[in-house]
Amino acid sequence: MILDIVHYGSPVLRKRSTVVPAVTKDLLRLASDMLETMYAAKGVGLAAQQVGRLESLCVIDVPPDCENEEDRGFNARVAMPLVMFNPSIVASSGEQDGSEGCLSFPKIGCDVKRASEVTVCYIAPDGSQKVETVRGFLARAVQHETDHLNGILFVDRADAKSVEKASGKLKKLAKANGGRM
Ligand SMILES: [Zn+2]
Repeated sequence: MILDIVHYGSPVLRKRSTVVPAVTKDLLRLASDMLETMYAAKGVGLAAQQVGRLESLCVIDVPPDCENEEDRGFNARVAMPLVMFNPSIVASSGEQDGSEGCLSFPKIGCDVKRASEVTVCYIAPDGSQKVETVRGFLARAVQHETDHLNGILFVDRADAKSVEKASGKLKKLAKANGGRM
């Protein structure tokens, strides 16, 4: 089922998610609906808050053409789509520059500096605890989505100049969706 995507301005995007005690049938259903919603919107990641939920859950599917060959090789162990319950970044290193967008910010992009490599702990859909180290674009997506689960949005971390450039659009979007920036 395709869910409604919450846009910037909605207070739920600023809420922290709550840890999921166990992976249940209902949560697997939610994860599958979130993937369907993300694909329909042509996104590469989606967090629970973006569909108005507060469970600690995000989904990611990075298409191969978004990554360079070296990163793709490094990340190959991690099967897509990536469904993570209770994800937490436990280590990060390096730095990468790049443009970022978000399904909660239609047609807005900003430059965001991110770590180039992160290690993330999470619970997989089968209930097993995982630890994975990822690089490049996938590392960027993992940071973006785990931020969502903590109520942090990419514009909070974006380069000041690019936020300034988008400020008119950002204010308009926030105003139309509840006013919470
Ligand atoms: Zn986002």
